[in-house]
Amino acid sequence: MKNKKRIKKKSQSLIVDKSLKQKKSAKKNGDQNKTKSLALGLVKRVLFRPDRYQYVRQKIKTDSCVFCFASKEKIKFETLCIYKTEYSLVLLNKFPYNSGHLLVLPRSHKGHLLSLSEIEFQDLHLTLKKAVQAIEKLYQPAALNIGLNHGKAAGAGLPDHLHYHVIPRWEGDLNFFPLIAETKAVVETLEQTYQKFSEYFLEISP
Ligand SMILES: [Zn+2]
Repeated sequence: MKNKKRIKKKSQSLIVDKSLKQKKSAKKNGDQNKTKSLALGLVKRVLFRPDRYQYVRQKIKTDSCVFCFASKEKIKFETLCIYKTEYSLVLLNKFPYNSGHLLVLPRSHKGHLLSLSEIEFQDLHLTLKKAVQAIEKLYQPAALNIGLNHGKAAGAGLPDHLHYHVIPRWEGDLNFFPLIAETKAVVETLEQTYQKFSEYFLEISP
């Protein structure tokens, strides 16, 4: 941002310089052109370094990413992590749409499905299967929503870190409640949900 501001200031000063141009001598015009080309050089150096921009962006996002934080920490209620493999995580959704709403995600901070390595991809989907099995066993839902909002425009809340939503569904649950009562059909606390899943995953863990 600082760079951008600096560039803007430079460009503004160039515009001022331009308006004064007629009053200046030919020698001065030469100096201005020099200044102008220097400023353009600066713009080019900043704008044509998308690699650098990507790196800075990635670093900031990784440091403040709740999923990466959960990946580094032990399995505990504070991070809502209930299960962990070498490459994947299962978390409770902090703001569940329904009881038993899970998130299944890769441990690496990646926002595109195709950027996952082969093993990360496989492990993610095996973990997704385990999450579905857990929900089926604990909640016996009538149906499930399993979805991945891939990218910001698709509605991803944290677009830089992929995550599947797995939501148990019952007839008429969400279609009815949010419209009429402005509330969600969640009937248990996060602590209760966490306890249920923790026991289940403890049992299936080798
Ligand atoms: Zn992350």
